[in-house]
Amino acid sequence: MKLRIWRYDLTVAHRWTIARGLGPGGQGGDDVFPVVFAALTDKDGVVGYGEAAPSPRYDETADSVVAFLERVNPYQLSFTDLPGSLRYLESVGSRNYCAKGTLNLALLDGAAKLAGQPVHRFLGLDFQEGRHVTSFSIGLAAPDVIRQKVAEAERYPRLKLKLGGRTMPRPWPRCGRWPLTSPLRVDANEAWKTREEALRNLEWLAGDGNIEFVEQPMPAVADPADQAWLKERSPLPLMADESYVYAGDVERCAAGFHAVNVKLVKCGGISAGMEALRAARAAGLKTMLGCMIESSLLISAAAHLAELTDYLDLDGNLLITNDPFHGVGCRDGVLSWAEAPSKTGLRAAPR
Ligand SMILES: [Mg+2]
Repeated sequence: MKLRIWRYDLTVAHRWTIARGLGPGGQGGDDVFPVVFAALTDKDGVVGYGEAAPSPRYDETADSVVAFLERVNPYQLSFTDLPGSLRYLESVGSRNYCAKGTLNLALLDGAAKLAGQPVHRFLGLDFQEGRHVTSFSIGLAAPDVIRQKVAEAERYPRLKLKLGGRTMPRPWPRCGRWPLTSPLRVDANEAWKTREEALRNLEWLAGDGNIEFVEQPMPAVADPADQAWLKERSPLPLMADESYVYAGDVERCAAGFHAVNVKLVKCGGISAGMEALRAARAAGLKTMLGCMIESSLLISAAAHLAELTDYLDLDGNLLITNDPFHGVGCRDGVLSWAEAPSKTGLRAAPR
């Protein structure tokens, strides 16, 4: 097996800012997001692709991903021995979930291609066309910019609004679509530091609009007792994102949240993502698949797990202007494989 790795900078259409990225002056955000791609090629020329969209929030960067991948001996990887390949990857180093996830994607892409199946069927899952709708995220910005972004997102039936920092509680982005007729998702990205502040904001949100759920109101390091206190009193469903990295976090999250947001780059790829979604459902939690700013390769990989979710937030590829892959399509928020470049594997390919 041959392994090729290369870096790529994704550029976003609008500067991307969330509560955690705000400086003391309320300024912040990024225009460019470095990702790393990997391609595994077997002796017959079958290629499996993988992508890492690392986040410093989870202690990974493009540099750390490349450093990990350079330690991997591709001769230890095989499309025909997934369990052995994944065991080998674990032996290369602890943590590095995003880096390992890159090769988890590439291995499953190659294995499913060899089996002549799309990844979801290879994993025993279904995918019903027309059923899976993603939200479209609106990052933090000045109110007039938010209004413009919301207007540009008119075709998406579900919006997810980033809140926190100085935009909370005012100015709330009143605009042409507000109050929205369809529910709005809100993500505070750990912004509210005490349970009382979080509850005040949740009550205010509940009174102001049609909110479906609120992601990560308090920091993941908050006292679990405070999170449970908040769950008991919250007028809106609470979803764990930064608090739910992988399946091992399920017990703690079940006590403090109603739902979880699983991301392939947090937990370590498709295999760990499946495990995290199934563990959450078994614990009675609602599930969502989310993403970072990432190309259509990672978004396609996540889409294969759509059947295991109640909500989708797979819009990272919709926010960028230089997507080097194409794969699962998105028309008016509805995910579809109708125009995917391939019928097997991840169903994604370089442009
Ligand atoms: Mg989030």
